[in-house]
Amino acid sequence: MSLLVDSPGPAPQRLDGRTVVVVHAHPDDEAIFTGATIRRLADRGARVVLVTATAGEMGTPRQPLPRGVDLATVRRREVEAAAETLGVARLVLLDRRDSGLPGWSSTAHPRALVQADLAGLARTIASLVEAEQAEAVVAYDADGIYGHPDHIAVRLLGRYAATLTGVTWYEATVDREHLHFAGEHLLDDAGGRRRYGRVTAEITTAVAATPEELAAKCTAMLAHASQIGPDMLDGPGFAETYELEWFVRRGRPALLETLGNAHALV
Ligand SMILES: [Zn+2]
Repeated sequence: MSLLVDSPGPAPQRLDGRTVVVVHAHPDDEAIFTGATIRRLADRGARVVLVTATAGEMGTPRQPLPRGVDLATVRRREVEAAAETLGVARLVLLDRRDSGLPGWSSTAHPRALVQADLAGLARTIASLVEAEQAEAVVAYDADGIYGHPDHIAVRLLGRYAATLTGVTWYEATVDREHLHFAGEHLLDDAGGRRRYGRVTAEITTAVAATPEELAAKCTAMLAHASQIGPDMLDGPGFAETYELEWFVRRGRPALLETLGNAHALV
């Protein structure tokens, strides 16, 4: 049982000069799982460095692509637009290939993320954390939120980069108990309905979007037009499904704790 309390609280703490590195697997994940959080960090003056590991080549485009343009190119442009909407200060594309799902031949592609030297990539991210003087890394929970191999790889990258640098790291997740009572979520089509994410008791940190932040998140999600159409965002139920973002903190309290306006009372 949980109760979410919105509290106006004192004036928001400014975060100028503070930096977080947010690592995601595919274009669109940054908006779906962390869009409101990134927008709030940026609005408070924090520097958000977004790392996107793959170009999401294995996604299914909703519309035929323009002649001569491949999906990777389209999706790189989409994540650039979404990043701008969310106030990302720097976008880093690791340029690995979307691995696709277990059993697909794409998992064996030499540039697939799951074929990469993950320790080497983690050192690349650790170098980025140090160069940016970031105080925290955001990646995914132990199951990559819903089990996609690229998400699990990103979890390993984030955790290892945080270990190498000694910074706090946050596992981005979803509260599966909350979503059980919410409307349709994009994760519902990703398989394992109601088994993704974490239970409420495991979540340490939650951010509840303001209407402005939620609007930015919606715009950022729709920037991924090759994957997400307005018809997929359950009109009146959109806020219920997407206004909360959830994290499990590993390490000392850091940047995201300064944001929290949703307190999970377990
Ligand atoms: Zn993804």
